Amino acid sequence: MSNQEETSTKLRYAIMGGTFDPIHIGHLAVAEEVKQKLHCDRMIFIPSGNPPHKKRVLTDAVHRYIMTVMAVNSNPHFEVSDIEVERQGYTYTLDTVKQLQKIYGDNVELVFITGADAILEVETWYKADELLKLCSFVAVTRPGYDKTKLEQKLQSLQSKYGSVIYSIDVPGLNISSTDIRQRVNGGNSIKYLVPETVEQYILKNGLYKEL
Ligand code: ATP
Ligand code: MG
Repeated sequence: MSNQEETSTKLRYAIMGGTFDPIHIGHLAVAEEVKQKLHCDRMIFIPSGNPPHKKRVLTDAVHRYIMTVMAVNSNPHFEVSDIEVERQGYTYTLDTVKQLQKIYGDNVELVFITGADAILEVETWYKADELLKLCSFVAVTRPGYDKTKLEQKLQSLQSKYGSVIYSIDVPGLNISSTDIRQRVNGGNSIKYLVPETVEQYILKNGLYKEL
């Protein structure tokens, strides 16, 4: 069987990884666009556990996991995995990809989704060279990040590591979890920036009162 035939018969599962602190409609729009444009058979959201390079204390993983479940609940094509929040110690994307490849086997192409900001710094991730060779990536545009710089980065990653990196333009939504946390903290509205259930969960549980 030629490489091309092999690829076409493979299933394609996308992984949407993030701290999701909290999940917002920017994440959901990215997932929808990637799912459609890359014809993904499954879209798996994976809230991070305890990433090594965090710049601040993350909200308890249970809250972040529940909000992610609430956000994707109404979409039968989206699912959430607790694979990282259940893991003890630091969680590395490399371990997650290896674990999923073991579960799903050779007939599945795993595609890890990264926003422009994330792919620009992917080489700082744990054992990045191994990770970039192990699974495919998709880089999506994000407001505030220069597209030419992004394309240069993709070219350099592809030639340096032989990585498969798809590039996708997504509808620009200038939304970040940082901004949402700051809005909640300042008593400002987050309506329409996160799903309604997530908004209610944040308010009910008093999240982001302290930053
Ligand atoms: P924070 O401000 O806390 O860093 P965030 O909004 O960047 O939060 P993350 O959980 O860090 O959200 O991001 C998870 C993934 O989603 C990353 O690959 C990130 O680049 C991507 N992403 C997040 N928001 C957007 C957006 N508005 N447009 C495109 N990609 C996004
Ligand atoms: Mg981020």
